[in-house]
Formats: sequence, structure tokens, C-alpha cells
Amino acid sequence: MKAFLHICLAGFTLSASAPAAEPTPEEWKKLWEQDKQAVKTGVCQVHHTSMPATTVPIHYGLVRPDPKGPTEAERIRLFPHARKFQLGGCCPIPDETTATIPVCDSCVKAEAAWLAARKVSRPASPKK
Ligand SMILES: [Zn+2]
Repeated sequence: MKAFLHICLAGFTLSASAPAAEPTPEEWKKLWEQDKQAVKTGVCQVHHTSMPATTVPIHYGLVRPDPKGPTEAERIRLFPHARKFQLGGCCPIPDETTATIPVCDSCVKAEAAWLAARKVSRPASPKK
């Protein structure tokens, strides 16, 4: 009985912390189209709130995602406009160090709650 409980608890722990299923290619296309439209209109596709244009730093080079952080699928489904930086690609442009992007306050709060629930601290800037 004790072994059975351990197996059940282990299964619960895995399912409770497992990332959301990866979207299908069709779902990705729909998610990216919704994201593009949200950037264009300034209204978050998840929270349906207005997003103020915010000046943020541009990070160039290879930016590795935090392995403890949300997957890209979780990010776009739960808090797509929480990032307070812009990815600039591999080739730095010296005169372009900031960008103006829409940032959703509800996405920022949702990301903070997601990270707090998993006891992950938010990095000040992306890891390179
Ligand atoms: Zn939002």
C-alpha cells in the first residue's frame, strides 16, 4: 500500500508540474496570428486589456530560455505580453538599444504568479 501511494504521489507531482502540451502546427499558426493582431491593436489577446507602449531594452545574440521558466507554449497561452525586453537577433545594431513594444500589466502579473507558484525568480535580463 505504501509503495502504491508513492507511485500515485509521484504521478501527481509529475502531472502537476508538467508543462502544457505543445501546440500543433495549426495551433501555433493561430496563436502567432492572434499575437500579431494583439501587437497591431494594442489589446492583449489573453486578457483583452489595453497594452501601453513601453520602451524596453533590446537583447542581441543567443538568448537561452531559462529551463525552469515557462515554455514558449505556456508563455503565449498564459502571458504573451509580459516580456520587458525585445529580442534583437544575432547581429547587434549599435544605434538600436531600445524598442517600444506593448506590455500587458495582466500578463506581467500572470507571469509573476506563474513563477512564484514554481518558486522561480524572474531574471533581470535573459540569460545569454
Ligand atoms: Zn495580457
